[in-house]
Amino acid sequence: MKVAIIGAGFSGHTAAMYIGSALGKDHDITVINMSDRFLYVPSLVWAGVGHFDVEKTRFSLKKVYKKFRVNFIHGKATEIYPDEQYVIAERRDANGGQVRVDYDYLVIATGPKLNFEATPGLGPEHGNTYSICTAGHTVQCRDKFLESVERMRLGERQKIVVGTGHPGATCQGAAFEYITNIHKSLLKRGVRDKADLLYLSNERAVGDFGVRGVHVKSGGKMLSSEQFMSAVFKEYDTSWEVQKGVKQVEKGKIFWEDYDSKEGETEYDFAMLIPQFTGMPMKYIGKDGEDVSEKVVNKSGFVIVDGIYGQPFETMSSNPDSWPAIYRNPTYQNIFAAGIAFAPPGPISVPHTNSNGLSITAAPPRTGMVSGVIGKVVAENIIDLVKHGRMTHSERMTEMAAACIASMGDSMWDGSAATIVVYPVVPDCRRYPNEEGRDLFVTDMEMGLAGAWMKRLIHTTFMHKLQGRIGWKLIPE
Ligand SMILES: Cc1cc2nc3c(=O)[nH]c(=O)nc-3n(C[C@H](O)[C@H](O)[C@H](O)COP(=O)(O)OP(=O)(O)OC[C@H]3O[C@@H](n4cnc5c(N)ncnc54)[C@H](O)[C@@H]3O)c2cc1C
Repeated sequence: MKVAIIGAGFSGHTAAMYIGSALGKDHDITVINMSDRFLYVPSLVWAGVGHFDVEKTRFSLKKVYKKFRVNFIHGKATEIYPDEQYVIAERRDANGGQVRVDYDYLVIATGPKLNFEATPGLGPEHGNTYSICTAGHTVQCRDKFLESVERMRLGERQKIVVGTGHPGATCQGAAFEYITNIHKSLLKRGVRDKADLLYLSNERAVGDFGVRGVHVKSGGKMLSSEQFMSAVFKEYDTSWEVQKGVKQVEKGKIFWEDYDSKEGETEYDFAMLIPQFTGMPMKYIGKDGEDVSEKVVNKSGFVIVDGIYGQPFETMSSNPDSWPAIYRNPTYQNIFAAGIAFAPPGPISVPHTNSNGLSITAAPPRTGMVSGVIGKVVAENIIDLVKHGRMTHSERMTEMAAACIASMGDSMWDGSAATIVVYPVVPDCRRYPNEEGRDLFVTDMEMGLAGAWMKRLIHTTFMHKLQGRIGWKLIPE
């Protein structure tokens, strides 16, 4: 059998390791990835303030795949022929040219397209803001941040804005973590008094994180992530503005519209704003050369799988079965999608459309942990199909936990972190008939030095696991 995997991020790489370890000896497994190195994205928040070398977040994929008998193509998949079951990729290695990869099973794990174009003036390439979403962007962002630091050393005040750069953006956790790391970094560099920090976001409330916020029981009382995050921001002398959808950016000015349809602008000297995420563009071509994209992806380019799509938010969010369980395309049943590439049935946070018709709604995050778990579920089902002809694994986001450790400084001595454990990621009111739809025993929020240790430990443990080193399977996704 032939299995092809497009994308070697958290989801695709996890799938490749499991499939390679189970089938690599007797079957033909191929990974196509745009970079020849794995990138451990979560540690970019440290690299973006110059406290961590970007190189420490990467390793060579080829070496790992050799262990698992997985073929590796350093290249970009551009076309998928689902009827004839093959992929065309443009090689990015020394060989160059095009390559055809045939498959019996295909995993699309291409992560997000960083859609800077959806917000005029956004982004490091053609705009005025910075990003920590890729290694290259992070280096640029770090350099700009350090330039700001130099200006502060010379006595200039700097206004730093971090948050979301589109009304429908996701990944607020990364933005939150970046701004708290900026605070810590400025303190260490002795210039904190020269900076005004602002967190600007499309969330309904600070601490929503695109998962409808979190509530935990603490000392017999309920504590919300909004209260928790507000306390952090107050302690860090950081202001925040939420319910704002950024629509355009100019040099020094961010233009937004809010929940009440009010338009306004925010000035900045240095800004890191997360763009809208869409699916990675790809051509899907039928056997007569026709475009079959509609059978594979939704309008945003995310792969349609076994979720229930097109329902009103209330219906969708009250039925956990709206969320996919096996991540398989209903038309082409040998195509699976993992991680950010799969199409969610809707937002997790309560959506908001203002009177001008602008939807300001945090898109659902599919974090590294969730992406890894989905990669494993997909891998296990493909292994099942190859070995036994049937699937036995399933896991919805209403059954998955997510642990977000938002570090505030990387130091093992005076660093800190807000550790938030959410279970399940998508509220399930059927299993947890409380207001939150979550397990209030497992869901937790803590703050302290232990979190900083844990974050560093997770970096080290995951770099170990993802390189397929001894005991890798024992470390959970
Ligand atoms: C700054 C930052 C911090 C974060 N921190 C955390 C955290 O602390 N904890 C957490 O759980 N999550 C965190 N996340 C989220 C996490 O990084 C993502 O959830 C995760 O990377 C998604 O994995 P993925 O496999 O779906 O996609 P990706 O990791 O984006 O991987 C997709 C891969 O596919 C490749 N690809 C794309 N298109 C093609 C193509 N056409 N052909 C070939 N290859 C292609 C890409 O090059 C990439 O290697 C963070 C994200 C950011 C941006």
